[in-house]
Amino acid sequence: MQQELMKNELTWADDQPTHSNTVPVVIGADIAVGGQDIILMAGPCSVESYEQTRVVAQEVARVGGRVLRGGAYKPRTSPYSFQGLGLEGLEILRAVADEFDLLVITEALGVEQLPLIVQYSDIIQIGSRNMQHYPLLWAAGELEMPVLLKRGFMSTVDEWLKAAEHIISRGNERIILCERGIRTFESATRNTLDVNAVALIKQTTSFPIVVDPSHATGRADLVVAGGRAAIAAGADGLLVEFHHNPAEALSDGEQALPLSALSRFRREAGSIAHAMGRDIC
Ligand code: PEP
Ligand code: MN
Repeated sequence: MQQELMKNELTWADDQPTHSNTVPVVIGADIAVGGQDIILMAGPCSVESYEQTRVVAQEVARVGGRVLRGGAYKPRTSPYSFQGLGLEGLEILRAVADEFDLLVITEALGVEQLPLIVQYSDIIQIGSRNMQHYPLLWAAGELEMPVLLKRGFMSTVDEWLKAAEHIISRGNERIILCERGIRTFESATRNTLDVNAVALIKQTTSFPIVVDPSHATGRADLVVAGGRAAIAAGADGLLVEFHHNPAEALSDGEQALPLSALSRFRREAGSIAHAMGRDIC
């Protein structure tokens, strides 16, 4: 019996996954998501103005982040909430990202937005609510751009992987998965960050995986802890919301870290990354 246990332990240790299971997705010219470095993608929930986006982008670049996030087309629960600046938002994102040598990630809500997103962005974000929007997945599958596929907040890992297969079925294999929290019985936080899923994806698939601790927790005071946990579970990147004035943000202000917190976030995420033998940039 004891021998059996030891055998299992050894097998378990021998089978521990390494990052080599992951096939990196290259974004921009040469940034590998799923490689040795953990990629920081940060910015406001919504692009609200040129000044707001610029001040955030400047800080993202200052701390060594590589990608500017920001929504120009927003999937809002209420039709009376701010819906995004649309094309103007895309123009702002591109101009500001170019100024600070950052890449852009932004969400396409529908197939009709893809031509514009391709023109202004470096990565297409497909949001949680659209994870099973098959025509959008097929259309993104026809493109040659990297796609960040967020997990549906009521979707299983299996459904998420099948959604990724829909994109692949049309030819585009450049998929980055994003765990952004799922709805559970727990109501103390906006969602529940499924760290199991992060480890599972790393262990059983070749997709790189990014974690969004902002939507996963819904609370600014938990975002740093969520980011640390994500890296410890094996995440290849973090997608995080920041705002120069969270109290006045037009969307998701409760979960936005103030700009002054970006260096701390980077430092704390960095120390977990180092413990994992990785770096964050
Ligand atoms: C977002 O990243 O701005 C967003 C709307 O996220 P999600 O699709 O995860 O809700
Ligand atoms: Mn948001």
